[in-house]
Amino acid sequence: MPRVAFTTLGCKVNQFETEVMEGLFKQRGYEITSFDQVADVYVINTCSVTHLGERKSRQLIRRGIRLNPEAIVAVSGCYAQVSPEEIEAIEGVNVIVGTQDRHRIVELVEEVGQSKGIMNIVTNIMNADHFEDIPLFDTPGRTRAFLKIQEGCTNFCTYCIIPYARGPLRSRPLESIRRETEKLIAAGFKEIVLTGIHLGAYGRDLEGTITLVDAVKAVLSAEGLVQLRLGSLESIEISDELIEMIKQDERLCPHLHLPLQAGDNQVLRMMNRHYTLAEYRELIHSIQEKIKDIGISTDIIVGFPGETLEMFENALGFVESMDFSRMHIFPYSRRSGTPAAKYVDQVPEDEKKRRVQMMQELAEKKAVEFQKKFITRQLTVLFEPEHDGLVEGLTGNYIRVYANAKDVVQGKLYNVRMEKLYRDGLWGTIIDKDDLIQTEC
Ligand code: SF4
Repeated sequence: MPRVAFTTLGCKVNQFETEVMEGLFKQRGYEITSFDQVADVYVINTCSVTHLGERKSRQLIRRGIRLNPEAIVAVSGCYAQVSPEEIEAIEGVNVIVGTQDRHRIVELVEEVGQSKGIMNIVTNIMNADHFEDIPLFDTPGRTRAFLKIQEGCTNFCTYCIIPYARGPLRSRPLESIRRETEKLIAAGFKEIVLTGIHLGAYGRDLEGTITLVDAVKAVLSAEGLVQLRLGSLESIEISDELIEMIKQDERLCPHLHLPLQAGDNQVLRMMNRHYTLAEYRELIHSIQEKIKDIGISTDIIVGFPGETLEMFENALGFVESMDFSRMHIFPYSRRSGTPAAKYVDQVPEDEKKRRVQMMQELAEKKAVEFQKKFITRQLTVLFEPEHDGLVEGLTGNYIRVYANAKDVVQGKLYNVRMEKLYRDGLWGTIIDKDDLIQTEC
């Protein structure tokens, strides 16, 4: 049986796409092996969001080639899409697919296997006009499944390479969402996470007035669904109806990831983000008022070109005034081909590092403040597989919870009493499982 090894960089969409490709290889009779083993095929699903993502992608491609110089090396994903020529220049690469036509990966690997030549099928993503609807043939043994329902972004934030890597908006048809949801439930998944490159834009390319709310309804209509979580959304795209659904339907996790990106109005404008801090604050406050204990997480980029010390301090002040449950802080990464890469007033790297550290400290303080509110309370937790005698899982509002593995069966929901702060989350004691009588979050 031929062996194929995968490695994935970047976001949840990439993780989902790797799972889809794994399924295609399995269906064809391949055995999936880990990336540090000798394999017949290596697939590197790359990322291009930062220059670090690209560097790591190149390192992983070279590692695959070193592990078995006789293997077929296939490269897919955003970096392959925006810079196929850089990948072609790495000796030992055989197949290059970008962010579409992944359904052909097995066929291409086998075709090139005869000649050991190179096949680059990357085309202009701006011409892509439909969602690449590849059914899930296999679902790996986790408790939480990602389901990609949307592709592409046309927001063109000035720092972001993604619109050039993923192309225009394309949505998965509602029928396909229903079908894949049923498949995931039948495979035993307790939680489905809806993902997309620009999830809030779901439906804009479809006929009629279909929106993300319809996609959520399609998932919720599947019998046996236990939990549904939404991936990252643009704040300005959250509708009242969606908030009401989260409030009313306890299967919808009370957690929203709403990227803020900058805590200064001038920086937001330079980034081409279409909201003000006042609008963002008002929205978050109104969500927090409506949905008790909701977790609101966010992303922030620091050191954007032109971000003065005063603007950065404004950002610290804004974040301090908000109740974020979790934050991801990124230093601005100059992406060639984006407008911001040409801005003259780039912030020096060491200053960016200093700002990241300051914002990170604030983020940790905010996370602890949020987590502390739940100590002594009971929350529902879905645990992942055991590791070193411990299990970890997530609450509906996205707090990481640790517990003794001996008390837990993987893939089941538990009522857990929160005891104390532990690592990056809380330590919990199991109360009971699955037959959840009363849950808080
Ligand atoms: S919304 Fe902005 S940051 Fe997000 S993928 Fe689109 S362009 Fe990039």
